[in-house]
Amino acid sequence: MKMTDSREITCIQCPQGCTLHAEKQSASSANGTSSANGTSSANSASNANGANQVSNANSSFCQCGDAVYKITGNKCPRGRAYAIKELTNPSRTLTTTVATIFDDCPLVSVRTDGDIPLRDVFRVMQELNNYRACKRLHPGEVLIEDLAGTGVALLATGDMTAPNTTNHPTT
Ligand code: SF4
Repeated sequence: MKMTDSREITCIQCPQGCTLHAEKQSASSANGTSSANGTSSANSASNANGANQVSNANSSFCQCGDAVYKITGNKCPRGRAYAIKELTNPSRTLTTTVATIFDDCPLVSVRTDGDIPLRDVFRVMQELNNYRACKRLHPGEVLIEDLAGTGVALLATGDMTAPNTTNHPTT
C-alpha cells in the first residue's frame, strides 16, 4: 500500500492524544461481502455530515468522498468519532479578538460557542474583521447569534465592563 493511502490523525479529545490511523480500503472490503444466500454482512448508516459509516465490534470504516477509510488506534469510541469528523468535516472552536467602539477597551476576546467547519473559517474571519462590538458584555454573553451563517454563536470571553482588562479571557 502506498504512503498516500493512509493518514495519521492525533486525537485531541482527551490528554492521552492517541495516534489514529485512517487507512484507505477498497469499497468492497469496507462495505461487506455477500454471503452465499446473497445478503450483505455489514451494516451501513449515514451520519449528520452525510458520510457513510460501517462499523462492527473490531473496526470502523468511514466513506469520505470516493475513499473508504478503516480507522484504528483509538482507545475509545470518541477517537473513532473524531477521526471520522476529521475525514469528513474537520472543524474547530475559533478563539480570537474583535474590535469594539469603546476607547477604554478597544478589543475583546471572543470564542465560538461550538465548532466552525475549517472551510468556513476564512469567511468567518472576514466577517469578524469588519465587526465592531457596540455593547458592553460580561464573559459568556453573546455578541453574534449566528456567525456568518454557520449557526454558531460568538461569545465574549473578556469582560468589557472592566476597562483595561478586557483583552484577556476570563474563562
Ligand atoms: S481515542 Fe479516546 S482515549 Fe485516545 S485521545 Fe481520543 S478520546 Fe482520548
